[in-house]
Amino acid sequence: MDSIKIKDKRFRISIPEAEIKRRIKEMAGQISKDLEGKNPLFLGVLNGSFIFAADLMREMTIPCEISFVKLASYQGTTSTGKVTEVIGINENLSGRTVVIVEDIVESGTTMKRMIEQLGTRNPESVRICTLFFKPDKLKEDLNLDYVAFRIPDDFIVGYGLDYDQAGRELRDVYSIIEDKNKNMKNIVIFGAPGSGKGTQSDKMIEKYGLNHISTGDVLRAEIKNGTELGKTAKGYIDNGQLIPDDLMVSILASVYDSFGREHKGVIFDGFPRTIPQAEALKKMLDERGDKVAAMIELDVPEEELMKRLILRGQQSGRADDNEETIKKRLVVYHSQTQPLIEWYKKEGIHYHINGLGELDRIFADICAVIDGI
Ligand code: AMP
Repeated sequence: MDSIKIKDKRFRISIPEAEIKRRIKEMAGQISKDLEGKNPLFLGVLNGSFIFAADLMREMTIPCEISFVKLASYQGTTSTGKVTEVIGINENLSGRTVVIVEDIVESGTTMKRMIEQLGTRNPESVRICTLFFKPDKLKEDLNLDYVAFRIPDDFIVGYGLDYDQAGRELRDVYSIIEDKNKNMKNIVIFGAPGSGKGTQSDKMIEKYGLNHISTGDVLRAEIKNGTELGKTAKGYIDNGQLIPDDLMVSILASVYDSFGREHKGVIFDGFPRTIPQAEALKKMLDERGDKVAAMIELDVPEEELMKRLILRGQQSGRADDNEETIKKRLVVYHSQTQPLIEWYKKEGIHYHINGLGELDRIFADICAVIDGI
């Protein structure tokens, strides 16, 4: 996915560098034509406009000058509210043709104030040249002489514009990817074979409307359908071993994407089972702007697991629920899967639940976790 992360937010390219350069050249051509013989003074507004001002000036075809100003913003008395002051004008503006070079105009309040302040220095005229303009946000009666791009009200970064001081160096302009999935609850339900992950998942699906990925179920369906993947998986499963990580990871991403971009959350049941799988899951979700909200560990003593699995084998006929394979699966669980508890503790999203006892009590404990995330 063509997105980047800056601090806590994700962005994707909205205006490529070539497009920006093309528009700037066009605009510089227009300004050169309009202000021929005027030796205009560009006043770049720092910090955001520094790259734009440099590129604009290099595309000019008439003599011109440049200087930079800063805006100092401070709280006035309650009646005046926020006051913006232009600082750093050292030039004599009297009789000059001034072009304010701004990176972005939104409400226009700052720009209006700037024009008022420059007006007291007797310039011949003051024009505004902005790289970006958000028409939907404009509150002031303002005449923008040169606008490179009219853009929707999305947060943008790059080409001199920052997100919390970061991202100014990006060559293209990026728009924020809105966090539509703020309330998405992706949950890893974790535990040894027979710990009740499937049973509790059914209840979670019903109560919270979550989607469910059981990698075991996916593999059993593949075996039933006689697919290539099923044939490969069967050998491992019958032997109580894990399917190789790369195979599991590729299956997972496609099942996850099949739920679309806006869902309430997914229960990961039987995945991850190894640390590389947990890392791959984190990466896969991160690339999509999503994350695991909680890892819920169902903790059940070993003798109880054996009892449950042998009973399940008799009832459901699952081939790997025989005593010999169960023992192997538990060994695999302890050696390869259990270390994930520490991994998720470090991630700060591990929740321990006593998985022995009444189904409803266990479910109530799970709900308390889900309601709290
Ligand atoms: P389960 O139904 O979750 O107990 O899975 C049954 C079997 O499928 C396991 O014993 C493994 O052989 C295989 N399997 C399921 N999920 C995974 C996974 N995430 N990684 C590797 N193998 C898996």
